[in-house]
Amino acid sequence: MAGRITLRRAMSPPTDGLHRIVVVGGGAGGLELVTHLGNRLGKRGRAHITLIEKARTHFWKPHLHEIAAGSIDINYHAVDYLAQSHWHGFRYRLGAMTALDRARREVHVAPVLDDDGTPITPPYSRGYDTLVIATGSHTNDFGTPGVHEHAIALETPREAERFHVRLVNACIRAHVQGTAAGPRQVTVAIVGAGATGVELAAELRKALRLLVSYGLDQIDPERDIAIHLIEAGPRILPALPERIADAAAELLKGLGVQLRVGTKVSAVRADGVELAGGVFVPTQLVVWAAGVKAPQWQRELDGLETNGINQLVVRPTLQTTRDDSVFAIGDCCAAPWLGHGGTVPPRAQAAHQQASHLARQLPRHMQGLPLKPWQYRDFGSLVSFGKHSTVGNLMGALVGGNLWVEGLFARAMYLSLYKLHQLAVHGWWRTTLGTASRLLTRRTEPRVKLH
Ligand SMILES: Cc1cc2nc3c(=O)[nH]c(=O)nc-3n(C[C@H](O)[C@H](O)[C@H](O)COP(=O)(O)OP(=O)(O)OC[C@H]3O[C@@H](n4cnc5c(N)ncnc54)[C@H](O)[C@@H]3O)c2cc1C
Repeated sequence: MAGRITLRRAMSPPTDGLHRIVVVGGGAGGLELVTHLGNRLGKRGRAHITLIEKARTHFWKPHLHEIAAGSIDINYHAVDYLAQSHWHGFRYRLGAMTALDRARREVHVAPVLDDDGTPITPPYSRGYDTLVIATGSHTNDFGTPGVHEHAIALETPREAERFHVRLVNACIRAHVQGTAAGPRQVTVAIVGAGATGVELAAELRKALRLLVSYGLDQIDPERDIAIHLIEAGPRILPALPERIADAAAELLKGLGVQLRVGTKVSAVRADGVELAGGVFVPTQLVVWAAGVKAPQWQRELDGLETNGINQLVVRPTLQTTRDDSVFAIGDCCAAPWLGHGGTVPPRAQAAHQQASHLARQLPRHMQGLPLKPWQYRDFGSLVSFGKHSTVGNLMGALVGGNLWVEGLFARAMYLSLYKLHQLAVHGWWRTTLGTASRLLTRRTEPRVKLH
């Protein structure tokens, strides 16, 4: 029958008795985990390590707002999964997980099609002895009309680049129209003033000034470009301490960002955003950065327990509550925050710590040994304003409690989170070489992406 598709098992490795660890999702947590496991177990022939990932390259999500603003070039920071798997002793299989069969211990993966619909990989199932789900999260539109059609969510590099191209086009359009079009020709609304929204607003201000300085002299960046940051809660950065929020609000005001707190967006339209209460803010570009939730398909995952935002509920060992062989890490799971209460927030530092923990525990799990619980260590929160400033607090025994930081030291600490990720993925030698080569090439390139 035309169009009929059959589920294949041909993509499974030969059954040679070795333990099969399958990790689904190669993001901040998953890629670190498979790299560790591949180096320790895969290369030594002690286990089969497989990464199932729907993308072909990895990009560290906390940098997405910098792609959107044009401050960094994705080509310098993307990690090719196929090459990474070759170098680090794991297998990479392209495709998106759609379902789970716990009785058969199989993951089901959707077919991958070319842009023109030509099949690349058929639907297949992959057997596992141990499964780790690390599929991240999406932005939560809370059912707001028009978000899907008219707003851009900074979830993938492709989305961030799409935003950047539209931003540059809006500036060029404003430049050729000149002063005839009047002030506020380029208007961006960012919905959600969590760390992503705040950092994007600051980064955009910096990038737009630079962009205009490259010859778009019919635009006055202060007069003609408006950035609105809209937050439903009573203050910006609702998840962070009030002192950080106050400092951030002052910095944003200094940058000319227009803050609207306690303001709910009721709909997004092609020409702007409607606020609850009837006010309409005309904008050319809308970024939706309000809240996260785990993917919908996780909700019904062969009986595994999930919470209200589709996260898989896990125990302190990071095993799902109903299946000892299925683990979950990163944004897609709800892990208990031991000694604090509640669940661990969806952050790169949590995904990094969970990956390091499982890299040590999974060899024990393979041998049937008891697993140690994972304890989240909150190192604090830092919010970057690009070159303008970085503010935040550092936590923990190292600094003796809660230490306020800003300026160069805070910037260095902020950058160190990405360096930790690079070290876990590339090791010392390649991280140092890569950093040195980027420092050299930055001197011969524009400081902002111009196309
Ligand atoms: C713009 C932005 C800025 C941020 N800034 C910070 C910050 O400053 N500090 C901080 O701590 N955190 C920050 N975060 C949050 C941080 O990025 C996440 O907490 C972190 O990336 C979570 O890691 P993860 O491994 O769970 O998921 P991700 O890094 O999102 O990776 C998930 C991976 O799973 C893959 N995948 C998804 N579904 C499937 C499927 N069905 N099958 C196969 N593969 C799949 C995806 O392609 C992706 O590669 C930011 C997030 C954003 C969007």
